[in-house]
Amino acid sequence: MGIYDCIDGITTFCPRCEKKLTEDFHTKDFKDMFLNHYAPGDIVPNERRTKQSLNVYTSCPECGMYVSLCLMIDGDMLTYQISKVEE
Ligand SMILES: [Zn+2]
Repeated sequence: MGIYDCIDGITTFCPRCEKKLTEDFHTKDFKDMFLNHYAPGDIVPNERRTKQSLNVYTSCPECGMYVSLCLMIDGDMLTYQISKVEE
């Protein structure tokens, strides 16, 4: 059950209007999604992971564009590396 988990501490820019985006990043890549909060540097429990990366998404409050990016999980730690930004 659940909807999504929240990822804090991320900053990126909207590829369309270049607005700075710093909040309301969500992911559906954890098991048992239940509005937990994680941030880069946090330990992600092994039993909650489904893969070694996390697809994180938000929508731009300015223009409504869907923005997604990828955070890697290094060992058990969520890292801040963003390996893709796509529409
Ligand atoms: Zn925008």
